[in-house]
This record gives sequence, structure tokens and C-alpha cells, in this order.
Amino acid sequence: MSAASFDAELAALLEEITPDVVEHHERSGAHPGKLLARVLGTGLAGCVLDPAGPPGGRWRFAAAVAAIAERWTALAESVHLQVLATCGLAEHGTAGQRERYLDGLRCGTLVAANCLNEREAGSDLAAMTTAATRTADGYEISGVKEWIGHAPVADVFNVYAKTSGGGLGGITCFLLDAGAPGLTVHERAKVAGLGGLPAGDVHLDRVRVGPEAVLGRVGRGVRVAHPLFTQGRIGIAGCALGLGRAALRRAVAHASAHHQFGRPILEFQGIAFPIAEASTELAAARALVRVAADALEHGGGDAELLAAQAKLKATTAASQAAAVAVRVLGSRAYDEDEPALRWAGEARLLELLQGTNEIQKIAISSRLKFLG
Ligand SMILES: Cc1cc2nc3c(=O)[nH]c(=O)nc-3n(C[C@H](O)[C@H](O)[C@H](O)COP(=O)(O)OP(=O)(O)OC[C@H]3O[C@@H](n4cnc5c(N)ncnc54)[C@H](O)[C@@H]3O)c2cc1C
Repeated sequence: MSAASFDAELAALLEEITPDVVEHHERSGAHPGKLLARVLGTGLAGCVLDPAGPPGGRWRFAAAVAAIAERWTALAESVHLQVLATCGLAEHGTAGQRERYLDGLRCGTLVAANCLNEREAGSDLAAMTTAATRTADGYEISGVKEWIGHAPVADVFNVYAKTSGGGLGGITCFLLDAGAPGLTVHERAKVAGLGGLPAGDVHLDRVRVGPEAVLGRVGRGVRVAHPLFTQGRIGIAGCALGLGRAALRRAVAHASAHHQFGRPILEFQGIAFPIAEASTELAAARALVRVAADALEHGGGDAELLAAQAKLKATTAASQAAAVAVRVLGSRAYDEDEPALRWAGEARLLELLQGTNEIQKIAISSRLKFLG
């Protein structure tokens, strides 16, 4: 598809994401599965999944996710998550696995989830205790994965489990179907936004699978998970750019229209300067996300460093913009139909996802030492 027709199709879809649609899903917690499928129906996943995808595809994906997040963070996060949860299959899947899942995941008729996080193994993935024990005809998997996005609506789960020893080297990725005996999902209620992105805990009670469920190689799950540390960070950064832009626009619109002391409050430096600073941070973040996306596309050696920097910068800028919007709105931030406080909660969540921003700083500083 040409860039122009892709943009036109996406723009038409964006028009359908009205505040009423967002409000309905955020309140009910219903996943916008049909919209997810329509967004993916534009061929967007190919920008990331196809080795010979369109030039500039990684940035096109980030920019598309940003445009969606400007209307609705939960849908943008769902699009990002779905594509991210398909990366491992696209790169490491066997012919049988790809035939069974790939087309459905690319176009959103199937929904996927990534299951890494555990109660005592969030930032420290090597501490995971979910174990896959060898049986005569495959593996038996037991453990609990907490706070898994898409879990209540997922058809297929990338489950990371220990197959041997300690450390990251003993982790293997398994592809499990939602109906696998012993796999149950317990939905989590959310309190700080992303209401339209269902999440839950995945309980694995002696789930038995054959060797064909292994994605990639045994003990090499970290290789399958590698896109989480590159593409995943750029996708989250894209969500943050859109959310930040929405918050900034809301702040400017209100500060221009709302009067105190006989003037629009935008004329007070105490209001104008934080808006100016937030807009500058967002502009800088956008430029950095683009550089990081292009580095990932061209296979540059600094792609991981740039992805971590882009995620850190964009999510921090989004939080700043959301905080400014809340402050500028005053008591109106607490109106029932005002999204600013939701944005603030969502921006904080984006700081947490795909590695907290403290973990990004560790990733960045550990790579800087190679600069000499
Ligand atoms: C809505 C939602 C959706 C999610 N979706 C998914 C999903 O789809 N799949 C999935 O696997 N997980 C998912 N998660 C889990 C998420 O990835 C983890 O919450 C995240 O990795 C952090 O882990 P934690 O919450 O255990 O925090 P912890 O690791 O316990 O960290 C707590 C605090 O300590 C800090 N910290 C930890 N270690 C260090 C260190 N070495 N140096 C400095 N500071 C440190 C952290 O930055 C954080 O501020 C989701 C979570 C939420 C809330």
C-alpha cells in the first residue's frame, strides 16, 4: 500500500474514534477488538513484521500509534502490543506455528499477549519462577503471570518459563492457546486509565504441551523476547507522543479560552512557561523517537541505546504534558467527562511498561560505557 493511501485509510479510521466511543470503552472496560482489527487491516503490522517492509516503516508505525494515542491511548497500546506479541512468531516461528497464527495476528482476527511479568519478577526477569518441566511427550508448565495486557481477550499467549537453571539463559518461550487445559485468566480492574485495554493474571496449572509449542529454541527465550527491548520501547514511545500531544492541546485550548483577572490565563507566565516547556520536550522526544525507529530499521549498533533513550524521553515528556494539563484545568480536571487525569495515570503507566524508566536508565548507562 502506498504511504498516501495508508495515511488516508488511517485518517478515516481516526475520525471514528470519537470521545463517546472512548468514554464507553473506558467505563465498561470493553476491548475495542473490531477497531483493532480495522487498524491492522490497513497493513500496519507489515511496517514492523516484514523484513522487506516499506522504507521508514518503523517510524511510520510509531507515528501511526501516536496518531491513535492522540485520540485514545488504550487502542494505541492494544495495536502496539498486538504487533509486539507477533514479532517473535514472525521471526522465530516454525512453518506450522506461522501457518496457524501469523495471518490472524497480523490482521487482528486473533489477539495475542506477552506473558513475562511475575509478582517477584517484574524488572528482574531472570527471577521468574514459572517452570516448564520436561515430560515424556513435551512439557508441563506451572506458574502465575501477573498484569498481562490483552490476557482476558487473548487467543494465543507467548509464555516465558524456565526450562533449566538460573539466569536469563534458562528461559524458553512457549505458544499457548487460550483454551489450553490448566490455563485460566483472572481479569484485573484498572484504576488509572487504559480501561479499554483489558489486563489480567494468567494462571498456569500443570499445562501440558507438546514440543511443537516451543517458540524459537529451548533456553533461548530471551532471543524471542528481544523485540520487547527495541521495538517495544519505540512502540510505547509512540503511544506517549500521542498522549502528550493530546494533553498539550487540551492545556492550550483551555488556557486560551479561560479567563481570570480579566485575561486568558495563557497570558500569565506561570501558565504559559510550563506549556512552552512541555511542548519543547514533546518536540524533542518526537525527533528522538524517529531517530531510534530509523536506527532499528537499518540495524544500527546503537538501536537498543536509542530505543531506551526514546522511551525514557517520550514517556517523561508525556507525563509532563499531562501534569501541565491537569494544573491548567484547575477544578475542571475533576469533571466527570474530562480526560486529563486519565491521561496523567496513563502516562505514568507508559513510564512503567516495556521496562520501567529506571530500567531504561540502567540500559542506557550500561551501553554508554562502550562509548569509551
Ligand atoms: C496495565 C499493565 C499492563 C501490563 N502489561 C504487561 C504485559 O502485557 N506483559 C508483561 O509481561 N507484563 C506486563 N505488565 C507488567 C509490567 O511489565 C511490570 O509492572 C514492570 O516490568 C515493572 O515490574 P514491577 O511492577 O514488578 O515493578 P518492580 O520491578 O518491582 O519495580 C518497582 C520499582 O522499583 C524500581 N526498580 C526495580 N529494579 C530497579 C533497579 N535495579 N534500579 C532502580 N530501580 C529499580 C522500578 O523502576 C519501580 O519503580 C503490565 C503492568 C501493568 C500495570
